[in-house]
Amino acid sequence: MLHHIEINVSDLKASHEFWGWLLEELEYSLYQEWEKGFSYRKNEAYLVFVQTQERFLDVGYHRSRVGLNHLAFHAASREQVDHMTEKLKQRHVPILYLDRHPFAGGENHYAVFFEDPDRIKVELAASE
Ligand SMILES: [Zn+2]
Repeated sequence: MLHHIEINVSDLKASHEFWGWLLEELEYSLYQEWEKGFSYRKNEAYLVFVQTQERFLDVGYHRSRVGLNHLAFHAASREQVDHMTEKLKQRHVPILYLDRHPFAGGENHYAVFFEDPDRIKVELAASE
């Protein structure tokens, strides 16, 4: 079981708006909050988001470089994947691989892929 993941972000406010909404939808709750960061927890695991220092902001994130490619979360059902896809669209969150949605991850893999404000890829996949 994962203990926690910490992610540096370019715009803490934008990340808090996005991740706060998404993680609450996934039944996480706000765990810690301070000037330079925040975290959300569910059971024993938590996700931490920290404002990147100005001097490290020049390079930026790209999921094709070395490092994190994407974060994947369990959806309760295929219905939740569909429901969240609609909500993501309403919020104008970029959805990836729409041409192959909801099977972009493979024939028997029901999921939605989208981007966070730093273009970190996020996946919500039905467990069934
Ligand atoms: Zn995946």
